[in-house]
Amino acid sequence: MFHEYKDIIENGDTVIVYLSHNSMAPITVTKGQVYNNKFGSFSHDQMIGLKYGSKLTTKEGRGFVYLLHPTPALWTQVVPHRTQILYLPDISFVSAHLDLRPGKVMIESGTGSGSFSHSIARTIAPTGHLYTFEYHELRAETARKEFKDHKLSDIITVEHRDVIANGFGRFNVADAVFLDLPAPWEAVAAAKDALRKDTIGRICCFSPCIEQVQRTALALDENGFSDIRMYECLAKDYEVRKVPCPNIEEAIGGLKADFKPIKNDKKRKLDSTTDNGDNNTESCNINVTKPVDLVRGHTSYLTFAILAPEQESNAMLE
Ligand code: SAM
Repeated sequence: MFHEYKDIIENGDTVIVYLSHNSMAPITVTKGQVYNNKFGSFSHDQMIGLKYGSKLTTKEGRGFVYLLHPTPALWTQVVPHRTQILYLPDISFVSAHLDLRPGKVMIESGTGSGSFSHSIARTIAPTGHLYTFEYHELRAETARKEFKDHKLSDIITVEHRDVIANGFGRFNVADAVFLDLPAPWEAVAAAKDALRKDTIGRICCFSPCIEQVQRTALALDENGFSDIRMYECLAKDYEVRKVPCPNIEEAIGGLKADFKPIKNDKKRKLDSTTDNGDNNTESCNINVTKPVDLVRGHTSYLTFAILAPEQESNAMLE
């Protein structure tokens, strides 16, 4: 259900209970159960049969929540953290640069909390496949169960495996590899084995410090990868506001006198002598954006590279 939509909430569905932009919680709708929060109690039975997006008020009438359909983007905000996770700015950047789209085969390690895995699955569905590798047994098991509950088992295979010691056990199958490991450079040779050789293979390594980037870039070069590039994703929020935009008359008036821009709802009637039907003379509100001062901190460096198809690299050597 994370890669397709349905209208009506049923028993067993995952629902994201939305209180506010910064406060959400995932629940599995289960007959007979009750969800409690600071506003009061919400019975799961009331939710069954409602449309996703519905507003549900507490019996006491003290508050309400919205029942949202789960998406990978929402899941990233509510996922139970078993490890550090990837957030949306990095997820979207990596997905675009790895050229992920429906039908692609992808390898990821480690699985961690499965935050990125959900997004990958949605992007490559319905015909693609994600092989995700995790050497922490409990994390691998938990992720497998979560993907099953989220009806992603057809798209994601979780393997409990140390990819540095044992490689990926898959050869010439992947369009792209993503490494989020403490020592990604040690898995670069295995990533090369896993990538397809008949088309361009893409790799991305996520590392928090520049020393790791240097070692990864060396390993990529030694293993025949090219076009090695490193990016840092620093997300900056923008505030969007409406401000009044005076028409020409008002602007000239404002230069002459103590002009105050008028609000749209109190828009002055245009003087018939100046109203020539040209919209430029009407005052209006326009949207403006202003950057919020805070630039969210560094999450990691993203090192990308490509593996040229074998025929092409052989031709270049001849
Ligand atoms: N990208 C993930 C997400 O968005 O939820 C988070 C990955 S987490 C930071 C790194 C994971 O790599 C950990 O769960 C760790 O157990 C796993 N890991 C570390 N070394 C590994 C190895 N050699 N083989 C497989 N998994 C490994």
